[in-house]
Amino acid sequence: MSKDLRLISKEKEKKTIIKIADLKIGEDFIVIAGPCAVENERQTIETAIAVKEAGANMLRGGAFKPRTSPYAFQGLGLKGLKILEKAKQETGLPIVTEVIDSRDVSWISEYADVLQIGARNMQNFSLLKEVGKTDKPVLLKRGMYSTLKEWLSCAEYILSEGNPNVILCERGIRTFETYTRNTLDLSMVPAVKECTHLPVLVDPSHGTGKKSLIGPMSLAAIAAGSDGLIVEVHNNPEVALSDKEQQFNPAEFKAYMEKVLKLSEIMKQL
Ligand code: PEP
Ligand code: MN
Repeated sequence: MSKDLRLISKEKEKKTIIKIADLKIGEDFIVIAGPCAVENERQTIETAIAVKEAGANMLRGGAFKPRTSPYAFQGLGLKGLKILEKAKQETGLPIVTEVIDSRDVSWISEYADVLQIGARNMQNFSLLKEVGKTDKPVLLKRGMYSTLKEWLSCAEYILSEGNPNVILCERGIRTFETYTRNTLDLSMVPAVKECTHLPVLVDPSHGTGKKSLIGPMSLAAIAAGSDGLIVEVHNNPEVALSDKEQQFNPAEFKAYMEKVLKLSEIMKQL
């Protein structure tokens, strides 16, 4: 790795372990689950309880949604964050939520346990610098057109501002393939581990865009050495305001988790 990636490079440190409540990311296998977007209190709390019961370790949910169309549901903003706060009180699950604007970082940090930088904002350098000034763990998704080096340079931005707690997340890239929403590039899991000391998660929901492919790709991600998964679950996906096709319902998630947890146990013995 080049000198430009000096802080995230493996030569600098062996392994970064990020502590959130009683979780150790980079050491324990973790599953982050929850809706694409926070839509209302009932939807979020019901989903949070279901994912907790199935064994998820953290709750995801967007209060600010970066949408392709300006007319699509943009998220509930502050109201959504307050709903996430309530879901955390109900379940004890730490919250992962996206920040899309550098002006929002400090106040969203009061609600979030992990700040997510989405694929579309991976190279939003002012946003990266701002989250780098906080002490909140940052989940940095890979941009859909980004090389490994570009992605890692964005992690370097965050570390260079003083925040060492970066979790990388492979979520698929754009290719000529149209059957899947993105092409989930699982080779990035061992590649990230080869180059850096940072933990890496996989998002098979956005990575495939198809419910039927999420289970198999999750097992493949675990076999590739992923430190965990981030998966979309909705209490009633048929009426979801975003990403309908890729959100598990609670029963589907429960069945999915049984396999995921089994394989992650087997991986510990290897
Ligand atoms: C998300 O996780 O809610 C999301 C929008 O994902 P991505 O940035 O990977 O598209
Ligand atoms: Mn989504």
